[in-house]
Amino acid sequence: MAAISIKNLVKLYGDGFPAVNDVSLDIQDGEFVILVGPSGCGKSTLLRMIVGLEDITSGDLLINGKKVNKVAPRQRNLSMVFQNYALYPHLTVFENIAFPLRLAKRPEDEIRSRVTQAADLLELTEHLDRKPANLSGGQRQRVAMGRAIVRQADAFLFDEPLSNLDAKLRGQMRTEIARLQRQLGTTTVYVTHDQVEAMTLGDRVAVMRKGVLQQVASPRELYDEPVNLFVAGFIGSPSMNFLPASVDGAKIETPLGRFLLHDERKVAAVRGHQLLLLGIRPEDFEDASLVPEEKRPHGTLFRARVDVTEWLGSELFAYVPFEAPEDIRNQLRDLSRELDSDQLRTQLVVGLDPESTIHDDQDVELWMDTSAVHLFDPATGTNLTRDEERATELARHAEEMRLEQKRGHREELGEVDRAAQAARQDLDERPDPTSRIEPA
Ligand code: ATP
Repeated sequence: MAAISIKNLVKLYGDGFPAVNDVSLDIQDGEFVILVGPSGCGKSTLLRMIVGLEDITSGDLLINGKKVNKVAPRQRNLSMVFQNYALYPHLTVFENIAFPLRLAKRPEDEIRSRVTQAADLLELTEHLDRKPANLSGGQRQRVAMGRAIVRQADAFLFDEPLSNLDAKLRGQMRTEIARLQRQLGTTTVYVTHDQVEAMTLGDRVAVMRKGVLQQVASPRELYDEPVNLFVAGFIGSPSMNFLPASVDGAKIETPLGRFLLHDERKVAAVRGHQLLLLGIRPEDFEDASLVPEEKRPHGTLFRARVDVTEWLGSELFAYVPFEAPEDIRNQLRDLSRELDSDQLRTQLVVGLDPESTIHDDQDVELWMDTSAVHLFDPATGTNLTRDEERATELARHAEEMRLEQKRGHREELGEVDRAAQAARQDLDERPDPTSRIEPA
């Protein structure tokens, strides 16, 4: 098992392009860290630098405290699983999984036992004699994982391993990877641009933008307390809505209407600013007719024209276009482009109770939970209203959960060891059956 320490890593490609720009990140032993960001943000380059497939331009990479900048990939003892599986078509599933062990010239009985164990864990036992071409995408991906597991590497590195699978299979494999990582307790770094994978798999998520690390935090902290506009817009689906907002003390004016900010901390945080960007998640809206009386004072009511609605059974989304000054419109459009989002930024997406009868082309009354707003500086993108105290609390809680899970894992392993010991003792204490054979 390994702790991976990334210190001010820089990768300049031949053309001088900084694909990874001064990234520092400490990955704990046994931790599951996700690298996420839009296409071209440098996440695969960073992963390839960790595994040794890409030279380091400057900075240091330490594995278990030892600098490995110049250590060959094979000597780093890390296992990488690629997007395209990289299986050998002429070899059986067994031999594909066994490949790294054959390369390391391990004895035959050890190979057999490790491959059988990995196949059992990945439910591949009945496919061991088949060739990759005859397997489904999910099975192929499991073979690739089997090959990573048998090596008993210090860490697993995944580069978008599920992106070739259809949505249903992706969901299944996602839970399998989560289960496997918990079972094995192996340090894992996982690259994806998939929201759901980022939010569900990792202990912590590192969000990258143009080679620069933006925020590293638990999924909940990223969602609730993003540090800037980019992270706020990237994490969450549908994305956070952004509206221009002019501020005067506790009074906020937006294209939707005026309201008062009741949170003193937020009012103090935006003092001195006039024009800001207000961020609010789709789920912080509701059809006003469905908001219970006791909840109403926490928010504000406004009238709006709903353009289009999408009823999905478990939720209802309504789209509300709004007007914004040209510079804000341009900024929101650029952000949208950078986030690889096809969402129009001068349109609000509101998530409503599916019981709501709101429909297309209707003037409606909506309720917005004003306690959930974030306010961003449009010039720097900084989230001025991030609650540092709550963020620290969320980080502490996430770390406690991780350590608890790790302890549970150790105990499980201890139990396996104890059971094996007990079994051995039991065998030792049993009278040797051969001793009962009476001499002829
Ligand atoms: P994707 O999700 O599209 O795979 P990514 O976040 O993994 O994107 P990288 O593949 O790490 O991004 O690429 C980061 C940047 O470095 C990109 O702008 C890319 O064009 C550039 N880049 C990658 N490989 C090379 C190369 N061999 N030479 C020059 N530039 C490169």
